[in-house]
Amino acid sequence: MITATDISKRFGDLEVLKQINMEVDTGKVVVIIGPSGSGKTTLLRCLNLLEQPESGSLTIDTQTIDFRDKISKHKIRNFRRLSGMVFQTYNLFPHFTAIENVMEGPVIVQKVKKPEARQKAEGILAKVGLKEKADTYPYQLSGGQQQRVGIARAMAIDPKVMLFDEPTSALDPELIGEVLRVMKQLAEEGRTMVVVTHEMNFAKEVADEVIFMDEGAVVERGTPLEVFEQPKEERTKRFLNLLK
Ligand code: ADP
Repeated sequence: MITATDISKRFGDLEVLKQINMEVDTGKVVVIIGPSGSGKTTLLRCLNLLEQPESGSLTIDTQTIDFRDKISKHKIRNFRRLSGMVFQTYNLFPHFTAIENVMEGPVIVQKVKKPEARQKAEGILAKVGLKEKADTYPYQLSGGQQQRVGIARAMAIDPKVMLFDEPTSALDPELIGEVLRVMKQLAEEGRTMVVVTHEMNFAKEVADEVIFMDEGAVVERGTPLEVFEQPKEERTKRFLNLLK
């Protein structure tokens, strides 16, 4: 479903991603871990073109982009629709209710008629356990509920892949579980997901593959068992030891 080849990205003099390769099969969950500043978020943002790499290529589903070519706005727009992004800080529209937030993508981007979009949004909100909160504004919701609206919103455009950028790191500890449960449920339904997270238990339980990044490069990758229990690289061992 996703093939990223030799993705490189700089911010000025800083080489943030160094020829990253990754593949995600349909229905699989890849979790990216690593120290702060290692390039995890930038890699995720490259996957839906919020950042544009200088080189490399990216295929999602049937669409391919070569970053050395000039890429039209039209192509970027189409490509972005392939992925639904869930942000650390939810990124909800404060003046829209929960259901209006979920309807926004289908109505504005996909030109779906409002009654139809509302009906579908109701179903998605029910899925994330927020049926009763459809007409509530973000400020009236807890952080965990807001993030579940964030997930519902990302799902609303029927993306081929879902991208999660540290979705629980802004939450109070007691609210993290409800968000992880929704993510686990999506994984069990067979959605293709790439998740940047510090929640190692989630990674152990849900990931098909774990990627450990440091200094803009993939240091080690493998099953959760391989990376967490039998890490080969010193840097991985050091990182995991710091978490103990
Ligand atoms: P991580 O998600 O692993 O914490 P990031 O991808 O956020 O890492 O950041 C990787 C590096 O790129 C960091 O050194 C960060 O300061 C830098 N960086 C990220 N975004 C920008 C930006 N928009 N402009 C300049 N530097 C950035």
